[in-house]
Amino acid sequence: MDGPAQAKLRALPQIQRLLETTQGQLLVARFSHTATVSALRLVLEQAREGLLSGAPAPGGAALLEAANTLLRTSAAPHLRRVINATGIILHTNLGRAPLAEAAIEAMRQEAAGYCTLEYDIATGARGSRTANIEPWLQRITGAAAGLAVNNCAAAMLLALTALAQGGDVIVSRGELVEIGGGFRIPDIIQQGGARLVEVGTTNRTRLADYQRAITAETRVLLSVHQSNFRISGFTERARLADLAGLARTRNLLLVHDLGSGSLQDLTALDGPAEATVQTSVAAGADVVAFSGDKLMGGPQAGILVGQAAAIATLRQHPLMRALRLDKLTLAALEATLRLHEEGPIDAIPTLRMLGQSRATLQARADALAALLPKPIGARLEPSTGFAGGGTLPESAIHSVCLTFGPPYHRSAETKLAALRAQPIPVIGRIANNAVLIDMLAVTDTDVPALAQALVAVFADA
Ligand SMILES: *Cc1c(COP(=O)(O)O)cnc(C)c1O
Repeated sequence: MDGPAQAKLRALPQIQRLLETTQGQLLVARFSHTATVSALRLVLEQAREGLLSGAPAPGGAALLEAANTLLRTSAAPHLRRVINATGIILHTNLGRAPLAEAAIEAMRQEAAGYCTLEYDIATGARGSRTANIEPWLQRITGAAAGLAVNNCAAAMLLALTALAQGGDVIVSRGELVEIGGGFRIPDIIQQGGARLVEVGTTNRTRLADYQRAITAETRVLLSVHQSNFRISGFTERARLADLAGLARTRNLLLVHDLGSGSLQDLTALDGPAEATVQTSVAAGADVVAFSGDKLMGGPQAGILVGQAAAIATLRQHPLMRALRLDKLTLAALEATLRLHEEGPIDAIPTLRMLGQSRATLQARADALAALLPKPIGARLEPSTGFAGGGTLPESAIHSVCLTFGPPYHRSAETKLAALRAQPIPVIGRIANNAVLIDMLAVTDTDVPALAQALVAVFADA
């Protein structure tokens, strides 16, 4: 670096100096000290990079104004559209499944006016709130009955409260999982007013372990999908069909918390092998609970399917009133279920993304690269994405990414922060100190805005 550039860098004001100005104090009062410091850091970083590529040095007032703009845009509306370049399709923090066009249109229709939410057109009498989705659930999953509540955690709370309150719930020690966001199986059982009876060991639980633990107090055998982790090596689990048989002979109920709950055989989409809801129903589980916004690719919901008497008990429980869905979610669920049954299933964005070919991902990356100036220095590379959302933790999905750096003048973290500060924030990831922009969960319509953000952040890197 030559002398004059060094001198110009030294001429940039220090953060402390900026904080002490009247404008700096106003920002601290409005947005907090921490937020103001990190905005000033980002602004100074951009100024430094500008200087090194020949731009003039901004004054203190301009820097504070830029920080003000940054703080206002990031503090203003909380829910904002972002571009998901993380390579994780069902990213819980980014809102999990994007909805199918048909689901969005169904929500628009119901939102604008009145609908048959709890109204039977034929009789003019009060109808059931989930009547619109039950026939789809029956046909698709093969279950005798179905209903839906707010999310899968709510579905489990409802099932355990309604079916096991005051009694025992038997669970394998290998399935006492924490899903994330504070959802822990032991807590849900306790919250439902039931007692947890642990059987087996972390790595091995046999049918006989369940058999021995059954007493007059037992109400439910609970099986939980090991969503976000795997136990490998010397392991053993009881088969679901055997647990169902045991439950039947001892007059108990088998509840299966399936979590991700795919309605499709994903291997047909070239995707990973994942147990489907249909397999679980066919194995004889009395109640199967799964999320609407994971592999089903619909709105946030918790779906319960199973045998008629058990589902009827859930439907009549007072908690149902507190956990019930609104008309918009029910409309989106129905439209998504229709696509599962009638197709085309690649109209469901989650399934389309899971089934993308290398050629599709490559074409999207090429289209993006074509919008970037050559000297920006991005490399096209193969990468590894994930389904996410506590599903398929180990199965990597092939993907393609644009890789930026290293080296930079500053760290990759600064670049990620600058991408987040763009008008449409871009959420990327870091690997080996380089910034990765993964194509797996980027849509073709994201590409122009994504290119703009990349140019703004990397053009002088
Ligand atoms: C994700 C998950 C849940 C929670 O589902 P939500 O719809 O997020 O409430 C519960 N159980 C399992 C096994 C899961 O994977």
